[in-house]
Amino acid sequence: MSTDRKARVSRTAALHLAMESEEMLRRIEGFPDNPVAMGYFYDLFRSRGKGESRPSGKGKAVGTLCVQVPEELIRACGARPVRLCSGAQAHESVGAEIMPAKSCPLVKATLGMLESGGQLEDLCGIVVPTTCDQKRKMASLLASHGYPVHLLEMPPVKDSEGARFYWQESVKELALTLEKWTGVRLNRKSVQAAILERSQASRVFQQLYALQCSQPAPLAGKDLLLVANSYFFDDINCWRQAVATLCMELEARVARGQGAGARQAPRILFTGSPPIFPNLKVPVLVEEAGAVIVADELCSSARLLHDQAIIGEGTLADMIPALADRALKPCTCPCLADNRDRERRLLTLADDYQVDGVIYQAFSGCLPYELEQRQIGAGLAQKGVPMLYVETDYSPEDMGQLSTRVEAFLESIRTRKYHKGVKK
Ligand code: SF4
Ligand code: SF4
Repeated sequence: MSTDRKARVSRTAALHLAMESEEMLRRIEGFPDNPVAMGYFYDLFRSRGKGESRPSGKGKAVGTLCVQVPEELIRACGARPVRLCSGAQAHESVGAEIMPAKSCPLVKATLGMLESGGQLEDLCGIVVPTTCDQKRKMASLLASHGYPVHLLEMPPVKDSEGARFYWQESVKELALTLEKWTGVRLNRKSVQAAILERSQASRVFQQLYALQCSQPAPLAGKDLLLVANSYFFDDINCWRQAVATLCMELEARVARGQGAGARQAPRILFTGSPPIFPNLKVPVLVEEAGAVIVADELCSSARLLHDQAIIGEGTLADMIPALADRALKPCTCPCLADNRDRERRLLTLADDYQVDGVIYQAFSGCLPYELEQRQIGAGLAQKGVPMLYVETDYSPEDMGQLSTRVEAFLESIRTRKYHKGVKK
């Protein structure tokens, strides 16, 4: 791209991103009785959409493209992990010039964001795990566009000893690259401190998440997803404090029985291709139609901080494999060949959060999620949990059709609940 054209593309993408972010925030903030503590997160996304704020936190930024990257190693090198996955249609339009039309919008948008200079950080490198084909191909495109890229080799399965060993070796390779990029040597203390820092964030997020078990759930899913999405780029300690403040407010709501939606609102579990701000199209639509997303199985939300690495008095040589295990063992991404864990987790969540139905979103072009939906739907149906499968992308064009399908699904849930109530 010529310099002039690049500057024009960047300006247009920035303008469209600001409008897109504002429109989504307008809908998100348009719900009645939003928790006061959500203001922190709304402001964060508003400034970021306008390209105004640089994230707080010191050190160089290292881009990551998946939840599989053990972020503790980046922090232990004194750098900031920034997950680059973009949810903006403004970026997707730029990426569409580089990627084939059939590729997934998330990959197109992420490439488009980097191509148009839309990320706010100066990156010293990007870590790309070899998960789906599209992420793999994106790595070589990014490298050809001049970005320092580290390909984090992931095994296609997670349960064999061979896979575990292969992954641990990959994570050790990553540690060496990070030392090279940042010029900082890892040591036992720095890794231990980074593990502790992430564990604290993980604990507070789990506290927030557990509150959603309450009847009625105190937080709308659109807000829960926003909180989780902001972990992609916010300073970890500011984020943890903001989530703790939100938890306090929600505990008070639970105590007085105040919920995020109507008392009998259908309780929904959301899963599939990750919704990333400003593309919260489907979750927001579901809640505008009167349901509440009480839980999710998403790598842009619940899976982010699902597990913590154990730190004992280990050496650096013990801690790196522990971090590798922390990332791989609980992974329920459909990129893995055998993925019964995902079905099991969905069933557990459906039970724990007393959900009335599951909404499964797959981005057009996202084969891993498309391929798994039938098996997951059948597993849920066996346990009496209905599932709605929707295929979508980042454009607003399918809103009318999505809205009709979501409303019909919620109506069937309401009817079912009514009949159950009558039988009792
Ligand atoms: S869907 Fe899987 S591969 Fe894609 S970002 Fe999420 S965890 Fe990574
Ligand atoms: S797993 Fe799906 S959503 Fe994630 S990058 Fe690959 S194709 Fe896109």
